Amino acid sequence: MGNNQKIKTSKSLGTFPIVGFILGLLFIAVAYAVVYLTSPNFPSDKPFWEMVKFFHKTNPVLFVVDSLPLVLAWIGLFVGVRQMGGITGRKRLQIQLERREKELESIRFLYNVMFERTENCLFIALPEGDIIDLNLSGAHLLKLDESAEEVLESKEEVIEVLKRRKLNIQSLFANVEDRDRVLEKLRIDGTVSSLQVKLHRFDGETFDGLISGFMGEDPDGQPLIFGKIVDLSHVRQAELLLRKANEQLEKKNEELVKAFSELQAMKVRFENRSKDLEKLNQQLDYANKLLSEMAITDGLTGLYNHKHFMGLLEKEWERARRSKNNFCVIMIDVDYFKSFNDKWGHQMGDQALKSLAKTISSQTRSYDIVARYGGEEFGLILPETDLNTCYTVAQRIRKGVEKKALLIKSQDTKVHLTVSIGVTIYLPDQDDPRTAEQVLQDADVALYLAKNKGRNRVEMYRRDVLSESAKVVPIPEFNSNE
Ligand code: GH3
Ligand code: MG
Ligand code: MG
Repeated sequence: MGNNQKIKTSKSLGTFPIVGFILGLLFIAVAYAVVYLTSPNFPSDKPFWEMVKFFHKTNPVLFVVDSLPLVLAWIGLFVGVRQMGGITGRKRLQIQLERREKELESIRFLYNVMFERTENCLFIALPEGDIIDLNLSGAHLLKLDESAEEVLESKEEVIEVLKRRKLNIQSLFANVEDRDRVLEKLRIDGTVSSLQVKLHRFDGETFDGLISGFMGEDPDGQPLIFGKIVDLSHVRQAELLLRKANEQLEKKNEELVKAFSELQAMKVRFENRSKDLEKLNQQLDYANKLLSEMAITDGLTGLYNHKHFMGLLEKEWERARRSKNNFCVIMIDVDYFKSFNDKWGHQMGDQALKSLAKTISSQTRSYDIVARYGGEEFGLILPETDLNTCYTVAQRIRKGVEKKALLIKSQDTKVHLTVSIGVTIYLPDQDDPRTAEQVLQDADVALYLAKNKGRNRVEMYRRDVLSESAKVVPIPEFNSNE
C-alpha cells in the first residue's frame, strides 16, 4: 500500500507574491494606458517620468493604482504562507507513513525469515486446533505435500492445502496421552515448552518430536495457538546408529578379548614348548657330548681310544714344533696276556685291563694323555716332559702294575701282571726331524726292546737325530730297570 496516495507538492511559497506583484503591474499598465488614451492634451515630447508626474497631478487616483502591485504581492504572500503551512503538514504525515511502511516491510521481512525460513515447523492454529498457518519447513516436515511430484513450494500453496484439507493439530499426535498432556498444559499454563511426544506426519508415518507453543491473539483480539515442532527422528536415527556402532564395538572388543586370551594361552603353550624344547636341547647336548665322548673313548677302560690318541699325538707334535717344547711318548704292553686270558678267562682278562688302566692313569698328571692303543697295549703322551721325568713315570707305572694284585674271585687267589714299557722323546729344539708317526714308531721300538730284554722293564729309544743316515740306536744309559 501507500505509493499511489502520495500528495503532489510542486508549488513553492515564492510563487504567490510574485504572481500578485505581476498582476499589480499589469493593472498599473492598463490604468496608465487608460489615462493616456483619455488625456489628449498630454505633451508627447516629455520623458516618461515627467509623464508620470503629470498624470499624478491630473489624476490623484493613480497613487492608489500605483500601490496596487504591492497590495497584491502582500496578499500573495499571505496566501502562499497559508498554503505552505498546509503542504508541510501533509508532507510530514506522508514521511511518517513511509517510515511506518518501511518498518512494516522489515517486520514482514523478519517474519518471513523467522517464520518461513526456519528449519523448524512453525504453525498457527485456532483455539479449537484448526491450523490456519504453517511455514514451508513445517509443511515438508509434516509431509503436507500431496505427492513426491507435487511438492509445496510457496506459502500460498501451503495455505491453500490447509484450507482444503482442514488440518487440526489434534490429528498430529500419535497417541492420546501426548495430545491431552499438551492441550491441557496449553489450556492451563498458556504455554508448553519442548515436550517430547510421538507425532504423526500427514502421510501416517510416526516420529519423535519436541513440541512447544503458547496461547496468543492476533491484532483483532482473536485467540490463537502459536506452535513449534522439532523433528527428533534424525537424532533418534543417529542414536540408533550410535547404539549399533556401540554394539559392534562391544562385539569387536569381546572378540579382541577372546583373541587376546587365546594369544595368552598360546603364549603359555609356547613357553611350555620352549621349556620342553630347552630340556630336549639339554638332553640332546648331553647325548651329543656322550656321543662325542664315546667316539673318542675306549668302551672297556674309559681311556681315549686309538683313533683319538693318534689325533692328539699329531696335535701335540705340531704344538711342540711351534713352541719348541719336548714331549714324550710311552707305549705299554701287558706281558704274557694271552696266557692270562687262557688261564683265568677272557672276562677276567677284561677286568685286568680295566685295573691296569686305573693303575696307569693314577701315575700320570692331569694334562698327560692316556689311551688304550689296542688289545692289551696302552699309549701315553707326556707334554713338556724331559726324558728323565718320562723314564721315572714309566718306571712308576711298571712298578705299580707289578705291585697291584688282581683278585681271581672264582679261585680265591691273587695274581700279578707285569708290563713292558718303551719310551721316546721328541726334541724340537734340537731340530728333531721325525714325524709324529716316527716318534710313535720309536716308542714301539723301545717297547720291543723291553720285550726282547726279558719283559717287565722300561726301555728308551730314539733315532740318532744327529746321524745323517738316521740309523736306529738304543740309548743304553736309560736301561736301568731295577
Ligand atoms: P707278550 O708278552 O709277548 O706280549 O705276550 P702276549 O701273550 O701278551 O702277546 P700276544 O700278542 O701273543 O697276546 C696278546 C693277547 O692279548 C691276545 C688276546 O687274547 C689278549 N687280548 C687282547 N685284547 C684283549 C681284550 O680286550 N680282552 C682280553 N681279555 N684279552 C685281550
Ligand atoms: Mg701285544
Ligand atoms: Mg702282550
